Amino acid sequence: MQDLIERAARDIAGSTYAIALTGAGISVESGIPPFRGKGGLWEKIDPMEFAHIDSFLRDPEKVWNVLIKEMKGVVDEAKPNDAHTGLADLERMGKLKTIITQNVDGLHQVAGNTDVIEFHGNFAWQRCMDCGGKIETSEIDLSEIPPRCACGGIYRPDCVFFGEMIPPDYMRRSQQAASLCDIMLVLGTSAVVQPAAYMPVVAKENGAKVIEINPENTPLTGRISDYIILGRGGEVMNGIIAELEKLLDA
Ligand code: NAD
Ligand code: ZN
Repeated sequence: MQDLIERAARDIAGSTYAIALTGAGISVESGIPPFRGKGGLWEKIDPMEFAHIDSFLRDPEKVWNVLIKEMKGVVDEAKPNDAHTGLADLERMGKLKTIITQNVDGLHQVAGNTDVIEFHGNFAWQRCMDCGGKIETSEIDLSEIPPRCACGGIYRPDCVFFGEMIPPDYMRRSQQAASLCDIMLVLGTSAVVQPAAYMPVVAKENGAKVIEINPENTPLTGRISDYIILGRGGEVMNGIIAELEKLLDA
């Protein structure tokens, strides 16, 4: 693994426009379970069923009880881990321009990254399905499920459910960053949720190097990505930052 970490540090040192695409795996070491992979929610429930907009519309009480309440408990407690702070260090070193994240936990911003495209929205806010009024998730009253706005409408997370469209502005900005970058770090995503999984393809088609960091291979491995560093996000990012510091000091 060390030789690939050194290779990634050299590639990043030589780049002028690096970006990252992140997924649920980057927050695993912060205690937030991913959907797929080992320990994923998938082992307990079918996220396609519970995180699909049709399920929410059919039975908001069930989706609140099984998915959203649990998610709120976990996200409220979560803090950035070494993978998040590593990406924040890369930005501070002038080596990372943008993060496209599929995560809704807000941890990249807490770690200090300033240009984060939240492709699937943010769990920090809830939106009333009738009047559109917003309230912070931390302020929501869970004594009644599903929680309701003063107008009587049901609150839903301000996230993109499966079956919903990506906000056009996020889509446009992500495609732009993916087509301009010369390196895309793909960290902690199973790369199966579309259209996010298409961004590495856009990067590759425009001549970028695509570097995966993931303990498991993905559908991008060996086809779209130039190489994969098989390891946990935190340890790999710590290694890359240490090597990069040596290169930039030299
Ligand atoms: P995913 O759950 O489909 O896949 C997780 C990936 O992370 C797997 O490939 C797994 O091998 C990898 N992984 C596991 N541990 C890791 C570690 N320590 N370091 C690096 N990688 C690790 O995730 P996805 O591709 O992001 O798709 C799931 C969808 O669910 C996303 O669209 C996202 O919106 C949503 N989701 C978000 C959160 C969150 O905000 N933290 C959590 C669960 C699901
Ligand atoms: Zn309302």
